[in-house]
Amino acid sequence: MIPNQCENLTTMDEDKKISRRKALKYFGTSVLGVAGIYAVLRFTPLNDKLRESLKKGDVRPITTRKDKVLGEQISLLAFGCMRLPTVRNQEGNMVIDRDKTRELLGYAYANGINYFDTAYNYHNGESEIVAGEILKDFPRDTFCLATKMPTWLVTSLERGKELFSEQLNKCQVNYFDFYLLHALSSIDDFNKAYRDTGVLEYLTEEKANGRIRRLGFSFHGNEETMDYLLEQYAWDFVMIQMNYLDWEVQNARYMYEQIEKKGIQCLVMEPLRGGALATLNAEAAGILAEADPTGSPARWAFRYVASHPNVLTVLSGMNVKEHLEENINTFRKFKPLNKAEYEVIARALEAYRKISQVPCTGCAYCMPCSYGVDIPLVFSTYNEMVVQNMVPDINGPENEDFLAKGQAFLDHFNKTIPAQSQSHNCTACGVCKQHCPQDIDIPAEMKRINQILWIFRNRS
Ligand code: SF4
Ligand code: SF4
Repeated sequence: MIPNQCENLTTMDEDKKISRRKALKYFGTSVLGVAGIYAVLRFTPLNDKLRESLKKGDVRPITTRKDKVLGEQISLLAFGCMRLPTVRNQEGNMVIDRDKTRELLGYAYANGINYFDTAYNYHNGESEIVAGEILKDFPRDTFCLATKMPTWLVTSLERGKELFSEQLNKCQVNYFDFYLLHALSSIDDFNKAYRDTGVLEYLTEEKANGRIRRLGFSFHGNEETMDYLLEQYAWDFVMIQMNYLDWEVQNARYMYEQIEKKGIQCLVMEPLRGGALATLNAEAAGILAEADPTGSPARWAFRYVASHPNVLTVLSGMNVKEHLEENINTFRKFKPLNKAEYEVIARALEAYRKISQVPCTGCAYCMPCSYGVDIPLVFSTYNEMVVQNMVPDINGPENEDFLAKGQAFLDHFNKTIPAQSQSHNCTACGVCKQHCPQDIDIPAEMKRINQILWIFRNRS
């Protein structure tokens, strides 16, 4: 029988203070402040001290929600391992910075986060390995590990079995708490990878064997696909992209409501829409700041998502400590939005939608580009300029403002992106476009951005 792991760890239910007694029973009776824990962790070998400190019960409570499948308390904030800190290795390749990641995951765990999410392809396969290496320092029954089967690699039953077994080995675990079919976006993909191959049946067997505790899928498709998938299996949960922009734009509202009608819970990815909602334009940010001078745009975005009661947990990729700390503060004693606050968000959204960013979340599913274009970097660089109101209007007058913006735009691109990775290398082959879950017309956007750059390159 698999124990009810998360219940032991977290100590603050939304409705009432609950398992503190259980947590203390599990870890002992001494509870230090988090500053104390962190000081201990910083100056001594992390693993030993963390283990020691956790044995004493040094886990701070954070808001949890009860999962409907097994009745466990899951932290409302989840740690996403898609964008971990990186460092250049001796061969010159970017790899996960293990020390920084260990520090972040340790800090998250010590602060009550008990849901860690990775996937087969994150960081070119390194994320599962690093998450496994670090999480094995914690008692296995005190955290939930989620990973995802790479749908695009599932070509047969044998391949599905191989992948699943490889994932258990990489993560150094005997079971996954949450297992997802990754990035389902069409009926055809689902049928080919899971129904026709028998892989779904196989995963059901793994569930019966206890190697999967909950089975669901992450989703990037349309309404028809969602309706179809919900009818195909008795899923335990569904992960959707949800934030206050996508509530209407990507129809997250429809997805959320359909999942709720099925009686299962939502897991949320992209609460900040790839960081866009953390760096709003001045007008939108001003509306939020006026309503709450102490809260950041990110805090508003997290509160919006988590205020929906059928959300079990909200994933965030927190690769710097400041973000992790801020998010932990937001979720320490989570306060849902009230009616007036929903209205504030609606006003900020209206102001935000006046500017036009490329709706890229930085997921990198479109990569690599055979012609060297760093697609997510081009779009994030462009979006930064949009937010700063530094995109020249190429159809407007050639006045001072136009020239100043154009030069700043060009300089910023040249400084941020190596020439071989910029938009002018795009041949419009269209391969990337097929993989974009946001349906972005990537070659058209590259052309548009390149037009601006071309004008100013030829002036300088
Ligand atoms: S369309 Fe452009 S960016 Fe996309 S893969 Fe082809 S060359 Fe690369
Ligand atoms: S263009 Fe699409 S696939 Fe590529 S990083 Fe952006 S959202 Fe992801």
